Amino acid sequence: MLIVMEKNATDDQIDQVIAKIKSIGFTPVPVPGTQRTAIGIVGNAGPVDASLFLTIQGVKDAIPVSKPYKLVSRDFKPDDSQVQVGDVVIGGQDLAVIAGPCAVENLEQCLTIAREVRKAGVRLFRGGAFKPRTSPYSFQGLGEQGLEILDKVRRETGLLIVTEAIDHDNLALVEEVADIVQIGARNMQNFTLLKRAGKSSRPILLKRGMSATIEEFLMAAEYIMSQGNHRIILCERGVRTFADHSRNTLDLSAIPAVKAVSHLPILVDPSHAAGKRDQVIPLSRGAVAVGADGLMVEVHHDPANALSDGPQSLYPQQFEELMRAVTAIAKLA
Ligand code: PEP
Ligand code: MN
Repeated sequence: MLIVMEKNATDDQIDQVIAKIKSIGFTPVPVPGTQRTAIGIVGNAGPVDASLFLTIQGVKDAIPVSKPYKLVSRDFKPDDSQVQVGDVVIGGQDLAVIAGPCAVENLEQCLTIAREVRKAGVRLFRGGAFKPRTSPYSFQGLGEQGLEILDKVRRETGLLIVTEAIDHDNLALVEEVADIVQIGARNMQNFTLLKRAGKSSRPILLKRGMSATIEEFLMAAEYIMSQGNHRIILCERGVRTFADHSRNTLDLSAIPAVKAVSHLPILVDPSHAAGKRDQVIPLSRGAVAVGADGLMVEVHHDPANALSDGPQSLYPQQFEELMRAVTAIAKLA
């Protein structure tokens, strides 16, 4: 349930609502909003009796929230959320584009790619130091050494760093270096990791699991937000289907579907959706046209020798072309 206060409600009236929620054993969550003061109720298994609140002075309305996710829902917060990282705003007017290699391979590789994507207008650099790979024999990432490289990339280029944490214990290391901590598709329902991410001071980029419904995706985001971290960015990265012409099937309908029910910003990762370089630009164009708040794209200067995901990585020149195309489309949208 969401308790909406009158515009001129006093602090004392708001405190009365909070005290009432606590007295019936539930948790009050103040909901930030520009238009109104509202207090969410979480922790209740079934419906809450609205009359308990409607009798308190200053209460305008008590709205039942039927969705299992609460804090991430538009019922709780009707206006779009924006996540600010350094001087970049995700979910605002401008497209937010994250670009870089799949994996951190060495300093020279990262700096080469970072300079290329920065030239194309990017402020957010991606690269995995810890890689969750399907095969135990595949390159697992450079680990801590990879994080040190990313730290150097930030200092040398001024770019902000997006990198993945793959488990509860390694998040502490990752958040020391990352400006945004990524949680990958395979970990979307790693609930101990999600709860730990909810305690992080860093924004979290949460990728959709490869067979997750929108409700499961938003429940994963709810895990993070319920622990106090409101800075969450969602990312659609394709789902498993029968199709074999691409690695996954990019679910573009997820963008309007998520936006209809949640206030969180959502990006699209066309690279892991496609698995093939030639589909990445067309899918990016589509993603921006349907209203994605930005993109996450894999770029490599020497994809033939990349240690992971070379076939889906764009050459820097192609990435520049992508940026030109999506910037033009974003202006029309
Ligand atoms: C990635 O972005 O590096 C990645 C591993 O993607 P996903 O979790 O979507 O497979
Ligand atoms: Mn990859």
